[in-house]
Amino acid sequence: MTAAAPPGLPAKMHALVRSFLAEPGALAAAVAEYGSPAHLVFPQVFAENLERLRTQLAGRVSGYRICYAHKVNQSRAFVATAEAAGVGIDVASEAELASAVGAGFTPARIEVTGPKGEGFVRELVGSGVTINVDNLWELERIAALARPQARVPVLVRVSGFAGTPVSRFGVPLHRVDAVLKVLAAERERIEFRGFAFHLDSGEPAERVRAVESCLVLTERAYAAGLTPSVLNIGGGFRQVFTADADAFDAYVHALRESLLGRGEPMTWGGNTFGFHLEDGAVHGTPVFHKYANTVDAERMLADLLDTGLEAHGGRTIAQIAAENLLDIWLEPGKALVDHAGITVARVEFVKETGDGSTLVNLDLSRDTVTPADQEVMVDPILVPAGPVANSGAVGVFLAGRLCLERDLITNHKVWLPRCPAPGDFLVFPNTAAYHMDLSAARASMHAVPPKLAVAQRSGAFRVCRDIDYRHEVA
Ligand SMILES: *Cc1c(COP(=O)(O)O)cnc(C)c1O
Repeated sequence: MTAAAPPGLPAKMHALVRSFLAEPGALAAAVAEYGSPAHLVFPQVFAENLERLRTQLAGRVSGYRICYAHKVNQSRAFVATAEAAGVGIDVASEAELASAVGAGFTPARIEVTGPKGEGFVRELVGSGVTINVDNLWELERIAALARPQARVPVLVRVSGFAGTPVSRFGVPLHRVDAVLKVLAAERERIEFRGFAFHLDSGEPAERVRAVESCLVLTERAYAAGLTPSVLNIGGGFRQVFTADADAFDAYVHALRESLLGRGEPMTWGGNTFGFHLEDGAVHGTPVFHKYANTVDAERMLADLLDTGLEAHGGRTIAQIAAENLLDIWLEPGKALVDHAGITVARVEFVKETGDGSTLVNLDLSRDTVTPADQEVMVDPILVPAGPVANSGAVGVFLAGRLCLERDLITNHKVWLPRCPAPGDFLVFPNTAAYHMDLSAARASMHAVPPKLAVAQRSGAFRVCRDIDYRHEVA
């Protein structure tokens, strides 16, 4: 008799990452040299992601620019790979700007987004980078600081599209008139390149409405005597984490049942993952809904560009852009680093808690693999340190190294193929997008884990510190 397979959350993984993990001793050697825990990035996977988005664009529009959104990961290897590929970069701080310049990006290929204070605006004016303006104050400061002999290239970010939640970023649509007035009056100092938006949403209709609004604004800019040539559609192109959408759904179903007290307990510490329980049912959208996504960035981008707009006689967004000589710019972050990073931790010890749960303690903390309010919903991969006795699958919670009750790396039960032993490794898949760097802290004076770059050259894997990575043509 075979028991039903335990609930699982199998991770989609890139073949290159898989073969690195399958290479005998490769991971152990990297950890032996650089320490555990560690983040590993795979710039060759980044390059492939970039190429796939490029292919979608090249087949549809004549003018386009991809600006890699640096904030998704601090990796120098990714920035170097983007530079070598000839694309642009989107930076959102002084330090990210310095990182881009250091990697060889010329000002013409740099776009600066996000909130900027007086100091940063002063640094940007006259530098030749394109400023993606967030608000009227910023635009007026640029006008005041600019010199006529060096017009400042700007995009204007807008927000507040119908059916879209209010955003803290951008100029609300009803304030765009004031912006056009400044742009028209300051034509000598400001080179207006076009409108921009960025949406976090994975909802295709929201992006289509944002494009429609920006096309209307572009017309108005022309009417005001301006000559916009860019439509910047931002980032937000999604990742696919799961290798098996049915298994994911089955896991979430079992999790919801367990929240109602049915079946095996699957949650730690009364966590409900953003669901709420009412009238004996589970409601709401969980904090981990991104893990359910099955539409990849390439598809999202292609579908958007192929969407016909009623107001334009059904012509597609790609056609409209081409006919109006508008270059499409995008700012993908997570889509470019999808599957291009993993995080490895060592198992320190395994214990049983008062309620009979099995706790696997690791040498990293929750903030190393995910922002605190998120829950990682793909199974880590167990890489044994030595010969294994196969004890069969075991359901565990993963606990972190901080002396805090809340430092659980998973608040949901994870089934591992066997009970790990001290010294084994657990590898967290697909951590390059925000997971590694966004919330990493030096709590309890633990060092931030080293970041390593892994590349396959002539069939062999080479590992170095991320900061020492040099791009080589394959
Ligand atoms: C964060 C950010 C991006 C990148 O977003 P992803 O969801 O990672 O693609 C792009 N543009 C702007 C303005 C951003 O703030």
